[in-house]
Amino acid sequence: MTWTWTPEHIEMLTRLWNDGLSTAQIGKMLGVSKNAVVGKAHRLQLAVRNSPIQRKEGAQIIELTANCCRWPEGHPGQPGFRFCGKQALPGKPYCPEHAARAYTQPKDRKSSTNAA
Ligand SMILES: [Zn+2]
Repeated sequence: MTWTWTPEHIEMLTRLWNDGLSTAQIGKMLGVSKNAVVGKAHRLQLAVRNSPIQRKEGAQIIELTANCCRWPEGHPGQPGFRFCGKQALPGKPYCPEHAARAYTQPKDRKSSTNAA
């Protein structure tokens, strides 16, 4: 590898890294491979960033769109809490299964008040 990191490059790397650019983007701007960026950042001990690829199964709140079931599963604030996230019925916030549960509440039989 003939590439050498100049202080300017390192400064740029650090700045772009802190700006939140991806390693691929930084590599492109510096003209080096993504791996070189990763390796250098590691050696510079730049703050580890959260990988955007980190995704858990199921839908997190932020990923919910209008078409996702919002039925909560688990307990809010506790690990494992999430939303159903399945395809929701058109115009409804829930998937068919949860819509059925949400909208079939036991109906109070309107006992006609004896107004007489
Ligand atoms: Zn659901």
